[in-house]
Amino acid sequence: MRVRLNTNESPTPPPVAWQHAVAAELSRLDWHRYPDRSATSLRAAIADLHHVDPAQVFAGNGSNEVLQTLLLTYAGPGRTVATFEPTYQLHGHIARLTGATVAEGGRREDFTLDLAEVQRVCGSADPIITFLCSPNNPTGLVEPETNLGAVQDAAPGLVVVDEAYAQFSDWSAIGLVDDDTPLVVTRTFSKTWSMAGARLGYLIGPSWVVAEMEKVTLPYHLDAAKQIAGRLALGFVDDMEARVGHIVAERERIQEAFGHLPVDFWRSGANFVLFRPRTVAGAHVWKALLDYSVLVRDCSGWPRLENCLRVTVGTTEENEVFLRALEEILS
Ligand SMILES: *Cc1c(COP(=O)(O)O)cnc(C)c1O
Repeated sequence: MRVRLNTNESPTPPPVAWQHAVAAELSRLDWHRYPDRSATSLRAAIADLHHVDPAQVFAGNGSNEVLQTLLLTYAGPGRTVATFEPTYQLHGHIARLTGATVAEGGRREDFTLDLAEVQRVCGSADPIITFLCSPNNPTGLVEPETNLGAVQDAAPGLVVVDEAYAQFSDWSAIGLVDDDTPLVVTRTFSKTWSMAGARLGYLIGPSWVVAEMEKVTLPYHLDAAKQIAGRLALGFVDDMEARVGHIVAERERIQEAFGHLPVDFWRSGANFVLFRPRTVAGAHVWKALLDYSVLVRDCSGWPRLENCLRVTVGTTEENEVFLRALEEILS
């Protein structure tokens, strides 16, 4: 497959200077020793970036592992976790793996959050954790700050905002985190930081949540190489923001092009766009794109996403190949 636009990775690698810095530190690593169990310098660097205390940072092997640790800590049999569908499938999936019940609320027809539904689900299911995802995967919709406030008012337990794509949008809930508020925000190095191969993610939350999670996670779960890679990446914020700026511009260009094609699409705040061809079945378009060596995500079999496909924003050249192929398929 020449053009892979299916897993929301960054289309470009991290800076060469970062690669050299990582290689230099790895050459001096004491491989016979266990890594720093508390990942002190990595967590300090993340805390610096977000102007929080290092005790409010929990790092894991990808934000999926962070979510798993959070759910192992607070969910489990006899407890309920709330989601508002369609949203990131791993939230409900991992919650069920811990033995918890998932209360699935529905979003409105246009996939925005229905605050009456939030009240109904939180009131009847008494969830220990209530998930939001902003921008939401797979819809790309950004959750307005007022919606988060309403969810915080309704939710009886912890509110989790999955911000895997936050740097592609214009606001973040991290500024609302403090030790007196049951709110946590998760982030990943897999998308904006171009480091999906490193498996690194983290959470910003009250220090008492982080302390409970540390009791649950395995000793030395973050290897030394990953701690180095992540800490050094944070020295290249400008490069990351430049890549994000380019992807956002390309996303707008793709949406502009969609406006001239027979497709419906949802305005995205992330590095992907959900769309629904009007004239040809989604699964057929997905297969036809394969013939042009373009791979997108087929969401057409997912609940409420009939005929929908999700395309990750790639390089300018990749996006061109995708748009030209789509135009030919739909004409
Ligand atoms: C991609 C993605 C993640 C990232 O998971 P990692 O384990 O950090 O790679 C988390 N949440 C959402 C909503 C995602 O789309």
